[in-house]
Formats: sequence, C-alpha cells, structure tokens
Amino acid sequence: MKMTKASEKDIDAAGNAMSVLNDISSGYCPARDGEDDAPTFFDPDDKAHLRKFYDLMNATLDAAPGWPGRVIGGMCYVILFDKNEIVDPAADTLEIHPRFAAIEAQRDEMLAALQSIKAVEHVLPFGNLCDCIQCQFVRARSAGIKARATPTAPQEGS
Ligand SMILES: [Zn+2]
Repeated sequence: MKMTKASEKDIDAAGNAMSVLNDISSGYCPARDGEDDAPTFFDPDDKAHLRKFYDLMNATLDAAPGWPGRVIGGMCYVILFDKNEIVDPAADTLEIHPRFAAIEAQRDEMLAALQSIKAVEHVLPFGNLCDCIQCQFVRARSAGIKARATPTAPQEGS
C-alpha cells in the first residue's frame, strides 16, 4: 500500500496532538505555551476542560488537515505493514528490514567479482573478437576508461 508522505506540517501537528494526548493520559490539562491561567489537572467531567481538549486537537487538524492518515496511517499501514518489508519484523525497535543488508552484500560481491575480471580478452584466430560476456565487459570497460581519459577528444583535422 502506498500513501502520501507526511509533510513537516503533518509531523508538527502530530507532535502537538501527541503532546495533548500525553498530558491527558498523565492526568494533566493540556495547555498552550503562554497560558498562565490554565488548570493543572484535567477533569473529564468539566465541560470547559473537554472543550479545551477538543479545541487543541481540532487545531492540529486545522493546521494540517488529514495528518492522522498520513502520520498514523503511514506508520501503521505502510511502514509497519509486513508485506512492504521496510522494518525488521524480528526486532522490537525500528530497524531496517534485513533484506536491505542482503542487497548491499550482493552488491559488494558483484563489485568485487567485476573488479577481479582481468583486463584480457580471449585471443581468436584471424583477429576476430570474442563475444563472451567477459570479453564484452573488458571492451566496455576499456572504452569507458578511454572516454573518461579523453572527455573532449579533438576531431581529426580541427
Ligand atoms: Zn571471450
């Protein structure tokens, strides 16, 4: 499943919502910076406290409409979705899926194999070029090296 990536605004809004929810879960009344008269403890039976809770949560939705889908949904249904193989399912912390390390190891093996190929072509009679993969690679590599050595080769006669 693909989803629009959360923007900086989305992440800010999510952080604000998380802060409000953390306050509530600790029993404190969520407050904005600079609010001196805010009550310390949250009373769920006090309509003014509930109104404040609603206003603070709603402000996050005004600041970044749709952030819950992109932030919470993105995490739950994209990043942590097993079939996407982004996160290591065996780890308790957020670790990159082991398939990425396997791909890196394969790349390193292939690079080492390519570098170990000798710059020698097979010798065929009558000056014919060998068409095997090694000889093609050797010719391509030496053409690449020559092209890089003379990036602006002057035309004959100029
Ligand atoms: Zn060959």
